[in-house]
Amino acid sequence: MVELRKLRNLKRQQMRIVSQFETNNPLSLLNPDYVSSTGLTVEDIAEKIDKIKDCATLIELTDNFVQVGDTWEQVLSVSAANYCKQPVICPVCASRMQARRKAKLSDPIKEQAQLCAESFTVDGEEKKRRYAYMITYTITDGDSLSERMETLKESKKNFRKMGQRRKNGKRSGGETSKIVGGVSTVEIKRGKYSGQWHVHQHDLVFTDEPLNYRVYQETAKRKLDQKYGRNIPREELNKIALIKAKFRDKLVAVSKMSFEWLRATGGDSIDIRVDPIKHIPKSAKGKKKRMFEKMTFPESVLYQAKEVMKYPFKPNDFSTADSLEILSDTFNKRMVATYGVFYGIPGDDYNDELDNSEHFIMKWNGKTWIDPKPGTVRENEDTQEARKKVGIELGEYRRKRRLMVDRYTTPWGVSSVLYLRLNELKKCFRAKCAAVWQRYREKKKRSELQEKAKCDTYSVVLALDGYYLPGATSREIMLEGWQ
Ligand SMILES: [Zn+2]
Repeated sequence: MVELRKLRNLKRQQMRIVSQFETNNPLSLLNPDYVSSTGLTVEDIAEKIDKIKDCATLIELTDNFVQVGDTWEQVLSVSAANYCKQPVICPVCASRMQARRKAKLSDPIKEQAQLCAESFTVDGEEKKRRYAYMITYTITDGDSLSERMETLKESKKNFRKMGQRRKNGKRSGGETSKIVGGVSTVEIKRGKYSGQWHVHQHDLVFTDEPLNYRVYQETAKRKLDQKYGRNIPREELNKIALIKAKFRDKLVAVSKMSFEWLRATGGDSIDIRVDPIKHIPKSAKGKKKRMFEKMTFPESVLYQAKEVMKYPFKPNDFSTADSLEILSDTFNKRMVATYGVFYGIPGDDYNDELDNSEHFIMKWNGKTWIDPKPGTVRENEDTQEARKKVGIELGEYRRKRRLMVDRYTTPWGVSSVLYLRLNELKKCFRAKCAAVWQRYREKKKRSELQEKAKCDTYSVVLALDGYYLPGATSREIMLEGWQ
């Protein structure tokens, strides 16, 4: 079975990453009182690495029948598992999240792409209902991953604010006011030349007006193209620039989009790339071109949206030390997001929706999954109440952690007592959760006993007379019978 084979390969990669952590032990280089900028203690990080080992050791397979031509074929697919939900370092979870994102977003993306083909006329001018673009937001490379991620996040927030609708209902002048919805992914790499952290973001966006990313006057630029080809002298280009902005002490020609990005990043970067999505991309040649030709426009958009649908990076691409930094610096940070019309599309990020098909559970024995048994790895409906309580505790715990990190962090670093406080807080939180589950189990046991008691009250003799009342005590049955 293809899917299981793929999962086995991913599980092996994951085991390799864990064993590298164990051999290199990068945690031993950290001081025991170390706390990451995201508030993780050494104990927290060690637990996170440990959690990967357990990931996908129980998998749930779903038995489906798919029609192929005239016949129905039985197809087993992995529908759920005990995932560690740490896609930043776990290849199994990264792949799973990517597949789920694709499953959830494919139809909404195709719907928006369909609107790109529809047009209408306003004041004699033809307009399309939607325009599709890929936007890449880049900031300057840097040494601190968490600081760079925070800068990107804040810059993007400022950029979007420039396009927010004003109170009077009118649009503000920012380009992002045209965006109807987007799907975005933060990507982390090591800069090719700088060797520093290179953080950028890919967004697939749909707009209701064309974006303004033009740098030079259109007709004048065309003339220069004809005259000089690819080697247009810089002075000539500067003459026809639409906007000039000061960037790193130089006056440079920028588009409206990059000018706004420069302002949003507080002078850090003008690097924003806007690529309108075409049915057949310019770069597609030969076989690939023919593939695009066969597709409908929405299918082509979806295909080209791969960049934003894939999980940000391959955990295998990094050294153990880098993986450790990624693990701690991305904690509690959003790597993937949806906004506008794509916001709040329901569905789990890891597990398929539970349906009525047959499910099997299999166990990992260190090499493969064995011993299929009917069942599901998902929690029952009746745990909902307990889960809700644990959720409230978790929210409270996170809030307290943040306060504590703030309290013990000074401009000179973190206090050496912070790790003790955080570990203690975690212990309290876990004890509270354990109490919630304990109460749940006790309650369940009580109701089971009650169920059993109901059976005990069944009396064959009385039932023959029609006096049996399910759930009643024998005394009540007597009363009912002799009334
Ligand atoms: Zn995992």
